[in-house]
Amino acid sequence: MKSKIILTALLSVSIMACAQETPKVKQKKTKTTVKSNTKSPKFVNAIDPICNMKTEDDMKDTAVYKNKTYGFCSTYCKDEFKKNPEKYAKK
Ligand SMILES: [Zn+2]
Repeated sequence: MKSKIILTALLSVSIMACAQETPKVKQKKTKTTVKSNTKSPKFVNAIDPICNMKTEDDMKDTAVYKNKTYGFCSTYCKDEFKKNPEKYAKK
């Protein structure tokens, strides 16, 4: 009769162990919200090549050189660019 008790005890232990062993499967749904910052740039240069200002913030003038539109913060910078576009233009 005692054997039955031991058996149930063993069973319960094994069940406990089994419960501990079962890996907690947490389905982490990682939402990969990739921000699509792939909007086509209006200008080839993000920075004014003359004065190194960010053209996106303060655009005053543009110049087209070799079918590429360059943005400038001022007409002065545009003129400087036009004087020597090869020097400032992106290769
Ligand atoms: Zn400038």
